[in-house]
Amino acid sequence: MKKETFLNINGKSFKAIIEYKRMKYIRWNIRDNVFYIRCPYGTSKTYLENALSNYKYKTRPKLPEPFTNEYCYIFGEKQYFNACFVKINGHYILFNKETFYEDIKPIFKDYIETRLRYFENVMGIKTHYLLSIKNVKSIYGSNSKSSHKITINSFLIHFSKDIIDSIIIHELAHDFQRNHSSMFYEIVYKYCPNYDYLQHKLKKNIF
Ligand SMILES: [Zn+2]
Repeated sequence: MKKETFLNINGKSFKAIIEYKRMKYIRWNIRDNVFYIRCPYGTSKTYLENALSNYKYKTRPKLPEPFTNEYCYIFGEKQYFNACFVKINGHYILFNKETFYEDIKPIFKDYIETRLRYFENVMGIKTHYLLSIKNVKSIYGSNSKSSHKITINSFLIHFSKDIIDSIIIHELAHDFQRNHSSMFYEIVYKYCPNYDYLQHKLKKNIF
């Protein structure tokens, strides 16, 4: 059962989407000034307002932007626009934020393909993977066993080459282990000892 309402928290009115469930405690998060709350059946509005009033309203620090009107990160390097062009592996691309990820696709794919072949060789993977580059939300890469295909997110173009390598290694490690078990991570760490550090940078948009 979901309910949309307004809550008065510390004298400020917030939109809240409340979901009543069979659970013991209140759980919530805030996105774009909207509280998303899950709470036990029968929790009153006043109770929620009191519980959340302990929360000091602050916006989460915003992640750094991969590009603005002035610059764009390419392979971890901040490039200030020079007449709107960005340089990618020797190619000049006219920067257009609407079509950027489509525009860079062929160049990025060439680059990823080279790294993919390199790590296939290093990791002893005999059958070459098909490669697809996509701009999707929330996922950096995937490995499809049935089609023997690795998909890499074109958003990664903003990140340093060692971060991109770590994603390729992760996806290739799935050739040996489908899940994310400790055995899987043993393989990842073998080829990418600072994997955790690179993942941390990735999540924080530290290009
Ligand atoms: Zn995985």
